Amino acid sequence: MSVCQLCGSEQIAITVPQTKPFVKHYKCSTCGEYEIVGTFIDALKNEPYKSRRYLLSGVFRESSSRGVILTLDTATIDEILDMASVPDNPLPEFRAQCVHYTNYTASH
Ligand SMILES: [Zn+2]
Repeated sequence: MSVCQLCGSEQIAITVPQTKPFVKHYKCSTCGEYEIVGTFIDALKNEPYKSRRYLLSGVFRESSSRGVILTLDTATIDEILDMASVPDNPLPEFRAQCVHYTNYTASH
């Protein structure tokens, strides 16, 4: 069965990009869109990454909402985890919620 490698959700679509046959492209309703190099998928199931998958989920969700799709492999994992460890600036999040609220009220 196909599940999200990060959150375990079954609400996902997996494709293999034609231009990058060595990666799997995941589209998860929780984590957004991300790619994992095939050889790295097993590494995610073990420490030190297993307990950090929720961090990756947050990074991927945030970046794919900006149209950036990150590819996870041994070369990028540390960089991506660094992105997760940077303290969140609450302002953009707050602004995003305001925009959402404005759009919601405008359409109802
Ligand atoms: Zn997920």
